[in-house]
Amino acid sequence: MKAFVLKEPGIAGWADVAEPILTPYGAILKPVAVAPCSSDVHTVFGGGSRKAPNLVLGHECVARVLEAGEYVKDFSQGEIVAVPAITPDWRARGIQEHNFKHASAPFSGHQLGRSQPGVFAETFLIPDADTTLAKIPSEVSIKQALMCVDVVTTGFTGAENGNIKFGDTVVVMGIGPIGLMAVAGAAMKGAARILAVGSRPVCVDRAYELGATEVISYKDGDVVEQVMKRTGGLGADCVIVCGGGDEVFAQAVDMVRYGVGTVSNINYFGGTGNLPFPKFSGGRGMAGKTIRTELAEGGRVRIERLLEMVRFKRIRPEILVTHELKGFAKIEEALCLMRDKPEDLIKVMVTIE
Ligand SMILES: [Zn+2]
Repeated sequence: MKAFVLKEPGIAGWADVAEPILTPYGAILKPVAVAPCSSDVHTVFGGGSRKAPNLVLGHECVARVLEAGEYVKDFSQGEIVAVPAITPDWRARGIQEHNFKHASAPFSGHQLGRSQPGVFAETFLIPDADTTLAKIPSEVSIKQALMCVDVVTTGFTGAENGNIKFGDTVVVMGIGPIGLMAVAGAAMKGAARILAVGSRPVCVDRAYELGATEVISYKDGDVVEQVMKRTGGLGADCVIVCGGGDEVFAQAVDMVRYGVGTVSNINYFGGTGNLPFPKFSGGRGMAGKTIRTELAEGGRVRIERLLEMVRFKRIRPEILVTHELKGFAKIEEALCLMRDKPEDLIKVMVTIE
């Protein structure tokens, strides 16, 4: 069958790959709609860990069940489901220690398009259907469901780990799709003031729409100084890091409050080496600032809960989709759009069926 694969570091393309083989608890699925994401761009162009030859890319997908294994209870042939980007191995020992994302190895929860063939293929396997696939309520569109499988859950993870309380001041660094959902999440967690850091007009518009009270641009000078000035020198209760290079980590520590502040990182820092930790604003190791680093929450229940939020109109993730392409062959063009980030792009989806 045809699939869009990582051929070698820096080169992605089409290849003929083996069809997946059904497992007793698994399901074979056919993509209905997919979205490439910045992580796919990192996998192809950003180096990272060694991958299997001709690894099938992609982890954001709404799909139709073609075939369900003999022990699958809740899903049947023909059903359209949301496929979480993060698919923990629920049978791994570490799950009983609540270590969902790294249960059997670092990043074992991130399997699709990484340690197991991804969704940019004519068909793909989910090895444990009942614990992984999410039912889509009839009121929720395919576009909305597609945004929940990675973008919403990742952005919300950033807000959840930020220890946000009613009345807090929150800074969101980076307002691509993930950062925009972190803005929405922070607003729902009770932030009074949300300072979003970014400059592309399309993203700035959406940031205000989703709950930002102010937008700060790198173009207007040092971001830390701007935040400190606007907060009377105190800094923010929470800084959610959603984008940027290595320098943003130190900036986040600089601008979070002593004693009570939390830096919640969901940004991908490519390459190896160290991230700089500012000694002074870090209180020379005694500032009482909390730093959380997390991969997105995944699995069936998580995504079904987010789909409930769409169903009852708490969130409108569809406003992130600025580009829509049609046809399996358009996956390549869509990935290039995510890499090149034209001025008017937030998120692209490809409808296949
Ligand atoms: Zn993604």
